[in-house]
Amino acid sequence: MPKTLVIAEKPSVGTDLARVLKGPFKKGEGVLEGPEHVITWAVGHLVQLAEPDEYDAKFKRWRMEDLPIVPERFKLVVRDERSRKQMSVVTKQIGRDDIAEVVNACDAGREGELIFAYLYEKAKGSKPVQRLWLNSMTSAAMKSAFEALRPSEDFARLEQAARSRSEADWIVGMNATRAATIRLRSSFDGAVSLGRVQTPTLALIARREEEIKAFVPEPYWLVDASFEADGARTYEGRYHAGAKPRIATGEEAAAIVAACEGKPGKITKLDKKEQREKAPMLYDLTTLQREANNRYGFSAKRTLGAAQRCYEEHKALTYPRTNSRYLPSDMVAEIKPIAELVGMQAEYRAGAEYVTSLDLLPLARVVNDEKVSDHHAIIPTRSEHKLDKMSSDDRRIYDMVTRRFLAVFHPEAVFENTRVETTIGEGESGHVFRTRGKLLIVPGWRGVYDEVAADSRPKGEEDEGADQQLPKLHDGETVKTTKVAGERKETKPPRRYSDASLLGAMETAGKLVDDEELREAMKESGIGTPATRASIIERLITVGYVERDARALVATEKGLNVIRLLDAHMLTSPELTGSWEHRLGKIERGEDSREKFMGDIAGFALQTVKQLDETLKDVRIPRAKLGPCPVCGHEIGENRKGYSCWAREDPGCGFVIWKSKAGKTLTVPIARELIKTGYTEKPVTGFRGRSGRSFRAHLAMQQTDEGKWRVEFDEPWAKEGAKAPEAEADSNELATAGGQREQPAPVGERSAA
Ligand SMILES: [Zn+2]
Repeated sequence: MPKTLVIAEKPSVGTDLARVLKGPFKKGEGVLEGPEHVITWAVGHLVQLAEPDEYDAKFKRWRMEDLPIVPERFKLVVRDERSRKQMSVVTKQIGRDDIAEVVNACDAGREGELIFAYLYEKAKGSKPVQRLWLNSMTSAAMKSAFEALRPSEDFARLEQAARSRSEADWIVGMNATRAATIRLRSSFDGAVSLGRVQTPTLALIARREEEIKAFVPEPYWLVDASFEADGARTYEGRYHAGAKPRIATGEEAAAIVAACEGKPGKITKLDKKEQREKAPMLYDLTTLQREANNRYGFSAKRTLGAAQRCYEEHKALTYPRTNSRYLPSDMVAEIKPIAELVGMQAEYRAGAEYVTSLDLLPLARVVNDEKVSDHHAIIPTRSEHKLDKMSSDDRRIYDMVTRRFLAVFHPEAVFENTRVETTIGEGESGHVFRTRGKLLIVPGWRGVYDEVAADSRPKGEEDEGADQQLPKLHDGETVKTTKVAGERKETKPPRRYSDASLLGAMETAGKLVDDEELREAMKESGIGTPATRASIIERLITVGYVERDARALVATEKGLNVIRLLDAHMLTSPELTGSWEHRLGKIERGEDSREKFMGDIAGFALQTVKQLDETLKDVRIPRAKLGPCPVCGHEIGENRKGYSCWAREDPGCGFVIWKSKAGKTLTVPIARELIKTGYTEKPVTGFRGRSGRSFRAHLAMQQTDEGKWRVEFDEPWAKEGAKAPEAEADSNELATAGGQREQPAPVGERSAA
């Protein structure tokens, strides 16, 4: 009897699928054999686009005259030796005579489609293919998906978009990287990695860094007063001139303090307004990543890892790589049963009981068929959730999704906002102090969260003064002024991007958009896709353009230089990348043609090569001079791998500071400081431990027993011979679609870092 071959994206999913198909399954090498089905799997991307020299050996050398390289037909190669073994297993199964049909059970998205398409093409598969489309990994969901297999033709356009994405990244990345590397060889060590998605993302971070560098802080003053009404009713007020709290000079501030000290005030204005706040919408991946970063400091990658485990291993959440914040109408009947299930946990009981008790669920902001294409918003699944089996990361992400799911069916929270103005002095010479009070009167959806009164919105204008819990006050009342004081402040530079704010900026292609509904509309034209954004950030860190410093993403000198040199080149434009992304979405919907898109990409590559060739032709970044050698006094110079008291024309004494240390390239300013003082005053950020986690440490020059100078970590743990601290638990590697590289690593060139 002929059998059906099921190809999953990874081994664990293959094992799961076996549980809902007719058994028993016999375990083989990379394969499960059942009576009706054979199950095998990829391990992420087994097959990828070939390097240029597979098309022509001359491309082994990087030469400007060979660019742009735009293959007529793209070749596929098995990714690496490790993949070769599994690939031969898969190929063999596809070729079996008793296999009549193949089921594509890879991840239900663009990247999953690509993994299967490349694999099937490489294996020269020619059997009919059906698609298994999963939104949830519960047994019930898997069973019904197997009963509703869809012909692969239904997904032809998705495959076209996937291939276009992959080929476009190859063409742009390969050509731009080669052109820039060739032109900048004398200035940069190793390849200058550029890419369709990574470069505009780097541009966002680097341009912010330039703003911070150029920022000159300016002083200003604030004046605060404490007031007391009869009966020990106290509150604080902040001086405002009109709407402005900032005072330009210390003299002005002192004059205001002097005029108000010890004088009674009068409440000249007391406004109460009700503020209603709707529950936030359900999570898509980007929103989940942003909020987990704000709340717990999770990197985008760490959140994706936890959400993926909640989906695959715990079967507790639905498919995470989604772009939608809505549910389809055919899921309405599932809502109450899911609420009932999560309500079995004590902490969600009250919220769940409210939802199940509703006669009519408020669905207007939750259900929208037009906003659900491949996948709906992330919600809990309709199955039993074993929370004790989850790691603390998984548990937190599950908690966020579950509370959000319950909250969205709850009514608005209602606050009472109070605005008080207290005036000291009369008429023209009166000084006005403002006070803001905020009181939660109806918890509504906020009741689902423990931190009932906490305001989740960022405090933007803190100069206006924080919200207070106010006593009962009356308009026209006279109050005692118990204290007046001025405080000197400084204007602050713009903040560095965190994973949260960068993901937000990528989603809107660099535009500042706070409005949730407007963000929703711009989603199609962002940088990258929700599924790939985490890996783009990690890629920038891997190539040494960006470092993590706690939650901040900081552009390195190399990253800054790359963007400085590209200047206003189109490759740095978030809008342009956003418009490419938009067209990929259109290809998926059949509104744009793959041929036309690829033609435009080829044109863009040609133009990019020309521009880089011209603009970078005469660029020379002078090698840095780092000051006199601490041993012999010679000038220390920068070379490929270090900063050393050595030059071709001048052998010097051999003193050297190697650039590479614990996954970081030590920059010129750090080397300069070490040479001058022998240690770093501030901890240096961006080191990576063996597990890949980042940490910061002081550095110091230390002499070995043989008298050689070396750069060592100047920290207590280093002296005790212990391992480096693990600043951020971020070791959950993902072997899935999102972890793939944006472009193949350049051949023949190696980064010195
Ligand atoms: Zn020397």
